[in-house]
Amino acid sequence: MFLAETPFYAERGGQTADTGWLDWNDGKASVIDVQPQGEAIRHRVEVRPDRLKPGDRVRAVVDAPRRQAIARHHSATHLLHRALRDVLGEQAIQAGSSVEADYATFDFRFPRGLTTDEVDRVYRLLNEKIRANLERHVEELPLDKAMATGAVALFDEKYGDLVRVVSFGDWARELCGGTHVERSGEIGLALISGDRSIGAGVRRIELRAGAAAERQVSDDEQVLHELGEALRTAPAELPSRVAALQAEVKRLEKEAASLRQRLAAGGDVRLEEADVSGVRLMLQRVDADEKDLLVFADAALNRANGNGVAIVVGGRNFAVKVASPLAERLPANDLIQAFRQVAGGKGGGRGPVGQGGGIDPERVGDAFKSVQDYIRTQLKAHG
Ligand SMILES: [Zn+2]
Repeated sequence: MFLAETPFYAERGGQTADTGWLDWNDGKASVIDVQPQGEAIRHRVEVRPDRLKPGDRVRAVVDAPRRQAIARHHSATHLLHRALRDVLGEQAIQAGSSVEADYATFDFRFPRGLTTDEVDRVYRLLNEKIRANLERHVEELPLDKAMATGAVALFDEKYGDLVRVVSFGDWARELCGGTHVERSGEIGLALISGDRSIGAGVRRIELRAGAAAERQVSDDEQVLHELGEALRTAPAELPSRVAALQAEVKRLEKEAASLRQRLAAGGDVRLEEADVSGVRLMLQRVDADEKDLLVFADAALNRANGNGVAIVVGGRNFAVKVASPLAERLPANDLIQAFRQVAGGKGGGRGPVGQGGGIDPERVGDAFKSVQDYIRTQLKAHG
């Protein structure tokens, strides 16, 4: 749709299009996109074709808060461009940008990645110039005159005889056709990401300004808060807490690896086996901590192709694991009670797994026989 006059900014120069509404006597329609078409400006409007006809009068209304958010981001890219060149030197020159209402990206030519210190200096200079509340000026000048005043122009861009120069104070001066805040202070706050490579010699920085920056700060704080809760530590302690956890994971991985090695080698594993009414019953005496006994029980069942019952004894502790198909007829808890009747101690189980301690190691052999008797009786009772 074309209007005789339009207040809408059409997408160009990396700046996104305005959106808004058309109002007329008995109707209203949303303008969802605005694109240049030759010399004209084409509006994409959500309206039934019979509601508007050529020649109708409409009132065109731009979504002003959105335009203001876009202007904040656009002005922030100009200040970022200047700050980059102040910190990195004049060879850091803009290669493109994309300006939206809730973020902007800024691409520039530079032969290497930025250091943390450089990113930090750019960030501080950018926000210092925002706080300085620099006044915006717009001038139309012949191109050669504009260049003589030190305005930054983009090499790949085509300019007419008269160019528009946008300046903030006497600090950032650029050829630009976009929309801008009146004073840099309106940007409020600008957050930048570190740079990343998007092609040979071209880097990209992402930028958030105004309310979008505010939202990002509170989102980040929420993440830090949740991490702090999860790891039970103050946000400032998170890096050292995570480092400690990583070290702990490494230690456990090492321990698990050595445990697996010992299991595979069979080293100090002593195994007795019995076939009780078709059930493979394994007794293993190992030299291992209480918490590792179930690992040995799992390994024993694995070697028995996941079938049978494994009892693992380490010192005065023991663990029982029953292959799941058998667990209903032979619950670990019942096996443990049969074992304890002879070996003493305490213990219990749930489903296929159980553990106990305080047994008399001398009586393990007899206790193993008692478990065999129990299984025999139990399976006979169940047919
Ligand atoms: Zn611009």
